[in-house]
Amino acid sequence: MEKKILLTGDRPTGPLHLGHYFGSLMNRKAMQDDYESYIMVADVQALTDNFNQPEKVRESVLEVAMDNIASGIDPKKSTLFIQSQIPQIAELTVFFSNLVTVNSLKRNPTVKAEIAEKRDIFGRDGESVTYGFLGYPVSQAADITIVRADIVPVGEDQLPMIEQTREIIERFHRIYETEIFPLPQAKLSSSPRILGLDGGAKMSKSLNNAIYLKDSPEETTEKLKAAKTDSGSTITFDPKTRPEISNLVTIYSLIHDQKPADAARELAGMTYSGFKAKLATDLNRYLAPVRAKRSELESKAHYVKEILEMGRIRTLEKAEETMKLVRAAMKINY
Ligand code: ATP
Ligand code: MG
Repeated sequence: MEKKILLTGDRPTGPLHLGHYFGSLMNRKAMQDDYESYIMVADVQALTDNFNQPEKVRESVLEVAMDNIASGIDPKKSTLFIQSQIPQIAELTVFFSNLVTVNSLKRNPTVKAEIAEKRDIFGRDGESVTYGFLGYPVSQAADITIVRADIVPVGEDQLPMIEQTREIIERFHRIYETEIFPLPQAKLSSSPRILGLDGGAKMSKSLNNAIYLKDSPEETTEKLKAAKTDSGSTITFDPKTRPEISNLVTIYSLIHDQKPADAARELAGMTYSGFKAKLATDLNRYLAPVRAKRSELESKAHYVKEILEMGRIRTLEKAEETMKLVRAAMKINY
């Protein structure tokens, strides 16, 4: 039987952090045996809000690729590729953009939240949001569809994007009287949203509130020491009323493969500072193999580039196959 197809990816806006690891990388790794897997470094999407920082995006491409491989993505099983190297994605984005209303993009809750967060770029009322940024969910629909993906392992913030993708596909099928794409499903991990160390709604590389996979053990310990907590003194798991301490308990439970409530019970007698020190030690031990592999890859950039080149060739073939179907359905196969 043919394998189902998986696509997921990360924006090269910086190195990957614990939110990625627990929110998406662990899932991808577990699924790569059973799915034909594509993992995209989304440089075109990163440029939608970083178009004036092309060096940052360029440097982060290898970082993101290395973080994926170090976390267990096996280049023999998964196809790792760079978004801008597949021009068919840009082509499909143009056709898909006819099938989405401007209003539905403005209503997308993730886009809305990001515009509010990025006041430094977009201004107080988002008055300088570009056409490209507002439209990135359309380009993301094309990313997913170009390989005809069935499943998309993501964090919670991506659910509106998958919903928008399904709507576009349904419209495409209805208007062009065809049925060439599967309707993709999001696959959430058991921890779809790790908060920032500042208590912010999401650990994010753009918000400087993250523990990166590549941080040194010392940096990790320092960051945890400074992580925001509340003025209480007991450790409990109450994400609604005590988000900061509960987030640290969640991280602890993930590395010990426990339920957060069980972890909180185990930790109940500790002080905040005692808990943070223990979490730092355990997290550093847990990440040690990933970090070792990561630093080995840093000295083998050519090897990482070869993997991306192989991925480019494999994805191009798939993408052109898809575009032949699209052009025929749209009657532009002259
Ligand atoms: P940026 O701030 O540039 O958007 P990011 O930290 O949000 O960066 P992305 O590259 O946008 O990272 O996200 C890649 C994948 O990781 C997505 O599936 C996203 O849902 C998931 N992810 C990102 N941050 C978290 C988090 N804090 N918790 C769980 N999953 C996350
Ligand atoms: Mg993001």
